[in-house]
Amino acid sequence: MLSMDSGKIRFVLSYREWDLGCIFQDLETGKCKIHDYNPLVCQLYPFMVSHKPLGIEGEEAFEYRGEKLWLYYDESCPGVGEGEEIINMKEIAALGVKFKEELDKTDLEGFNSLL
Ligand code: SF4
Repeated sequence: MLSMDSGKIRFVLSYREWDLGCIFQDLETGKCKIHDYNPLVCQLYPFMVSHKPLGIEGEEAFEYRGEKLWLYYDESCPGVGEGEEIINMKEIAALGVKFKEELDKTDLEGFNSLL
């Protein structure tokens, strides 16, 4: 969760204590209770965008708006490779760039103190 403090985005961590699950997941339906808001990190999952290679065999840079990016995905996500394509590499790159812009505006010192 986020809040604003002195112009910096501030993280406020909240999770279900018994399973470390997300507090926004409806326990009865399993669905997201804030789907209309759809947090950026949730839009991006199961993908990850890096501005430098992670050193994984076969990785290749993806050129996006003159910038080299490396796109990865969580192999444990059961939806990867299933059904029709719902997001393409350009859209993943755009989300990753937006995520980094938000991260750059974030009070990471405050965030790290919560961990
Ligand atoms: S989509 Fe994101 S906010 Fe919604 S339940 Fe899942 S982790 Fe939580």
